[in-house]
Amino acid sequence: MPYVYDDQNIFAKILRGEIPNDTVLETEHTLAFNDIAPQAPIHVLVIPKGPYVCYDHFALEASDAEIADFNRVVGQICQMKGLQPGEGGAGFRLISNAGKDAVQEVPHLHVHILAGRNLGRMLGKA
Ligand code: AMP
Repeated sequence: MPYVYDDQNIFAKILRGEIPNDTVLETEHTLAFNDIAPQAPIHVLVIPKGPYVCYDHFALEASDAEIADFNRVVGQICQMKGLQPGEGGAGFRLISNAGKDAVQEVPHLHVHILAGRNLGRMLGKA
């Protein structure tokens, strides 16, 4: 089944400037902003500006320029926040929920960068 993008989702509204956001970094193809309900001391969302529903949609259909820009922004956020394990930072977790089993709430691709405390093991028991 083809991906169907709903342009009324909240991140589409943020990208159109219809609702505010707390921007951390913006580039040609990508926007990073603080999560409105942070689950860690650092909780940044990174989204492409293009209409991609979830990670696989983006990975399969976005241009090389969009994919490169998106990933560079993830790296730049980690650098800006001092999270890089190889540079003495305490690390971070990168999560992207896709679809119903992952309980994706907003149907516009986003990765969560979570950091600033020990985040525990990756998943709780089902
Ligand atoms: P997910 O369950 O992966 O779709 O996560 C959606 C995330 O978007 C949640 O962590 C929400 O707190 C966050 N969120 C929802 N609305 C906003 C908003 N207006 N600004 C920033 N973050 C938001």
